[in-house]
Parts: sequence; C-alpha cells; structure tokens
Amino acid sequence: MSCTTGSSVNREERHKSIGVPMRCWCGRKEDFLVSKTNENPYRRFYRCQGALQRQTELHLFKWVEVAMAEEFEAQKVEIGKAFSEGPCLSIRE
Ligand SMILES: [Zn+2]
Repeated sequence: MSCTTGSSVNREERHKSIGVPMRCWCGRKEDFLVSKTNENPYRRFYRCQGALQRQTELHLFKWVEVAMAEEFEAQKVEIGKAFSEGPCLSIRE
C-alpha cells in the first residue's frame, strides 16, 4: 500500500507573507500586472490596488517569480515535514 497524502495537508499553516500574496494589509486585493519599465520589461508582478492612489504608503508589491520561488520552497518544507512526521494519511474510500 502506498503512502498517499492529500494536497491540502497543513494548508492552514500557509497564512504567511511568503508565496503568492492573497491580500494587502489595507484589505484590498492585489492586481496581477506586467511591468512596462525599461529596467524590467514584461516582468510580471502583484501589486495592491490601493498603491496607485496612495503612493506614499507601502502597499503590497511582489515579483511573480519571487512569489513562485517562495511557494516552491514552502511546498518542499511541507513535503519534508509530511514524510518526517511519520504516519501517512490515507484517503478515505
Ligand atoms: Zn494595500
């Protein structure tokens, strides 16, 4: 019998600032945008919708590949934990 774990295991622990941002501290959702600056042409990023109107405040901003890399790291940690913590959760039939 194989050890099969659901993909939602430990998902509650993921409410951190790492990975793909869900919402800015100000409560607004983030936008998914593409940079058009000369420094970062066509680079994709997440940015809070409130950042445009209130540029003096520090609102959510994150490059997509940074978020993806963090998501990937978080997954690796979770998988490692799942294996090291022993008993596997089998899917109910
Ligand atoms: Zn914001």
